Amino acid sequence: MQLILLGAPGAGKGTVAKQLTAIDGSVQISTGDILRAAVKGGTELGKQAKAYMDAGDLVPDELIMGIMKERLREPDAQAGFLLDGFPRTIPQAEQLRELLKDIDVELDAAVNLDVPRDVILDRLTTRRTCVDCGAIYNIKSMPPKVEGVCDKCGGKVVQRDDETEEAISNRLDVYNEKTAPLVDFYRKEGLLLDVPATSSEVVVKTIKEHVGA
Ligand code: ADP
Ligand code: ZN
Repeated sequence: MQLILLGAPGAGKGTVAKQLTAIDGSVQISTGDILRAAVKGGTELGKQAKAYMDAGDLVPDELIMGIMKERLREPDAQAGFLLDGFPRTIPQAEQLRELLKDIDVELDAAVNLDVPRDVILDRLTTRRTCVDCGAIYNIKSMPPKVEGVCDKCGGKVVQRDDETEEAISNRLDVYNEKTAPLVDFYRKEGLLLDVPATSSEVVVKTIKEHVGA
């Protein structure tokens, strides 16, 4: 399947994407994960992106489009993809439309995961991430077995630099201003699938039915 996952930070895009990959081998493509890996690896891309990310601001569209033009052409993406955290602005969505035309790929849907703001705030402040494999935990609902240690790889489980209260509040404002308009963009394109994001199981089931997987 070829899907875009829309939704505020903390709406559960990553969790849903991971569950969907198990269905048909589509790959999860998370621009946030790609950028964090670049920062960690100290690459040129990482150096350019870090300050924006730490503040909870968006990385410039040119950098993101450069990443995605290459990523969508890689062999594993030909089996299908779940775009998690991209596009995030109208210009990115417009350029993605052109890119998909160029590579002759059609989207199944843009899924909007709709979650109330208070739920989002609570999730983000309690979220913890493995620095090595990216596994996501929650100190209230799903803590690692040993505090601060990843169950899957033994890596360090920490609060992300952009998950301080100040950065979170900025990310939500940026989302409302820059990314929320994509819901209307994809509605007009006839691609929008609105899903009240109660539980990831329900979301995955709704998506499966929609794409006939
Ligand atoms: P979230 O939990 O907010 O969905 P992500 O892991 O998707 O976080 O992204 C983390 C940060 O990476 C964002 O706050 C932003 O700085 C940057 N980023 C990720 N994807 C994009 C994008 N498509 N456009 C611009 N910046 C992005
Ligand atoms: Zn790990």
